[in-house]
Parts: sequence; structure tokens; C-alpha cells
Amino acid sequence: MKAYIWTIGCQMNRAESGALGGDLQSLGFETVRTAREADIVVLNTCVVRQSAEDKVRGMLGFVSGIKSARPHMRIAVTGCFVGQDVKELNRDFPFVDHFFGPGRLQDFHDWLCSFVLERDYCLSVRAPQQASPVSAYVPIIQGCNNFCSYCIVPYRRGREISRSAREILAEAEGLIESGAREIVLLGQNVNTYGHDLSPASDLSELLYRLSDLSGLHRIRFLTNHPKDMSPSLLQAIAGLPIVCRHVCLPLQAGDDEVLKKMNRGYTRDDYFALVARVRQAVPDMAISTDLIVGFPGETEQQFNNSYEAIRMLRFDTVHAAAYSPRPGTAACAKFVDDVPPEVKLRRLHAIEELQAGIQSEINSGLIGTTTGVLVEGKKAGKWYGRTVSDRLVFFKDGRDLKGQLVEVEIQTASPWALQGTPASVRSF
Ligand code: SF4
Repeated sequence: MKAYIWTIGCQMNRAESGALGGDLQSLGFETVRTAREADIVVLNTCVVRQSAEDKVRGMLGFVSGIKSARPHMRIAVTGCFVGQDVKELNRDFPFVDHFFGPGRLQDFHDWLCSFVLERDYCLSVRAPQQASPVSAYVPIIQGCNNFCSYCIVPYRRGREISRSAREILAEAEGLIESGAREIVLLGQNVNTYGHDLSPASDLSELLYRLSDLSGLHRIRFLTNHPKDMSPSLLQAIAGLPIVCRHVCLPLQAGDDEVLKKMNRGYTRDDYFALVARVRQAVPDMAISTDLIVGFPGETEQQFNNSYEAIRMLRFDTVHAAAYSPRPGTAACAKFVDDVPPEVKLRRLHAIEELQAGIQSEINSGLIGTTTGVLVEGKKAGKWYGRTVSDRLVFFKDGRDLKGQLVEVEIQTASPWALQGTPASVRSF
């Protein structure tokens, strides 16, 4: 039996697709590269923006065409396209055999068992595991309690539920055993990890416990809501060499009125103070951010406040996006999407151009330095991997270096990546 998984969206979706793939493999499925060859197709979807939802609908049309020619094929759909109530989805997409909510891996497993294999066999199969790459994702907290006014995630992924440290450590150990050298802890807001556990815990405690695992060389985590960044977490990052020097702190807007309408829970001044604290605690910390332009009612002055914030804070990476109204969210219900598309595009390009200049300056400053790169794989004849600051580095070498930590001397830089030559290799 053959299976095909199509994934778009965030790292959480990628992690969950990895787990679904591991489950399918453990039940004897071979993974194939196209839906046309598959007996089971899984679509892991995203609706965070209209463009993502359009892709999902296009893919549903595509697999429906394949299914009319191959009626035995089963189709399952997960991710944020699937809300709490699937009655409407069942009516609109009758060719889909199973809808299951994001993160509901057991639901998928049970469905698979219900028609593919003997139930007893299924129940004895180990918990879903992703096929282990060098850098492996491990979700630690599902859902979100924040309700930012533009965001559909809390309605689709539900409220925050933390996984126990025991379960996370066991998964990490399994991944290390099968070749992972870096663990990326995932959550919509990893900063609130553990508040719902009994006894309560937090991300810093989890980092200390993970850093004791032998064979693990790096730990990353994302995303960190700025309002929940704790001093104990900064202390843990500063004190644990295994934890990467990189945080993702979404700013979303540099104007107080817009931040309030977004329900972000901090002001521009709060955010600036936080960045100063982070840089004081961990001076070599790389900071990435997300920014939305063209939020309803955003004036030219309010946009300029965001622009200035990006210019002053000099982030290492900025993921900017134009506001896209999502039905079911507070912003969509309360505000008119009144910034014209051409204005959103102009603002988006202005931010991208500004940030490309900043990244070019930051990366050029690294030419001539030597930096550790954890090698993840090969693309177009070159090895690639990331530094502790999450910078992408390419280099050529004839040896098999996948999974090795290579010291690379940086020779050229662009805003998006660095190129160099290997100086030494540390084998694990
Ligand atoms: S913190 Fe805000 S933007 Fe992030 S997932 Fe939660 S509601 Fe969405």
C-alpha cells in the first residue's frame, strides 16, 4: 500500500506530517511522491491566509479528479482547514473519507486501523514517530489561548495543551537514536509551555532536562509570544550552550493602536524593552520576527511606525505578510478590510527592501569569521546547514558530512544565506 502526504503551512504542520508519515510507515505503507500513485492521500492544510486556503481548495479539486479515476483511493484531510464542526466540510467535499483536526494523530491512527488492518495489530503499534532527519521537530504545546484578533489558529487548534516532559523526553531520545542531532521544540506559543501541567512547569525547566540527553547537540524552539518571555527562560538560554542563540518574537506591528486592535497584549515600548533585555542577557542572540502590513484601518503614519521599528531593532530575519481577513476571527467581524491591495503590496515591498538591506549588512559582517554548521543535507551539489543563530550556510566538500558539525569559514554573503569552505569537522 502506498501513501502520499501533502503539507503546507507552519512548522507545526510539518512536524505533524512527519508523525503521520511515521505512523503510515510503521503500519507498512510506502511513501510515494505523487498523489496519483497513492492508495491513501493525506492533505495537511493551512488557512492562515487566503492564498493558503486557495491552495488547499485547489489541491482538493486535484485529488478529487484522481479519485474519480481511482475510486479505491482514500483521502484524509487535517490541518487548520478542519474546524470543530466537520458537517459542512463533509457536505462540500463528499469525496473526502476522513476529516480530523490538527494535531489529532490518534484520530488518524484509529481511522487508518478501522479499514486497513486488524485492530489488534494497530493497537500494538508504537506511538506515531516522524522519520528522523538531522534536525527533528517535537511539538511540546498544542493550541493557543491568545486570540489575536486576526488569527484563526485558536479556533482550529483549540486551547493550549502541554505535553508531559516525560513524553517529550522519550520522543527526543527516540529521535536521537535514529540520527537526530538537533531538536526543534514547537508550539504556537512555547513561552506558556507547562502552565497547564500538574505540577506546573515551564520551558526553561524542559530545556534543562533536554540538555542532559546524550547525543543531542542543539535545541531550538519557536514561537515565543513577546508578552510571555520570562527572565528564567533567558537565564536558561544564556547558561545552556546546547540551546541555540535564536528566538522568534513576532512584533506584528510597531504602532500601539494597531497592536491594541490586534489584541497582542503589549505596546511598542514593551516590545523595545524586551528586545533590550534579550540582547543584554544573551548578547549574541539572533532575533527573528513576524510583521503584518495593511491591518484594517492602518494609516500611512501607523505603517511608518512599523517601518521605523524594523529599522531600529535590526532583526536577523523578518517574515512580513499582508493582512488577509479570515472568516471567524474578531478582526474579520469587527473591522473593514479597507487598505487597498496595492497599498498593502507597496508597504510589504518597503519592509522587504528595508530588511534585505539590514540582513545584507549583518551577513556581510560575518565574512572572514568561522562558524559551526550542523549539516542537514545536500542541495545542488553543496552541503547546507544552519548556525546556532539560524543562518543558512552552503559549502562544498567531497566527504559525507550529513549530521556532522562542520566549522565553516564564511567567504561570501547574501541577505538570505552564507557561503564558505570547511575548516574542520567534528564527528559525533
Ligand atoms: S499567539 Fe496570536 S497569532 Fe499566534 S497562534 Fe495564538 S492567536 Fe494566533
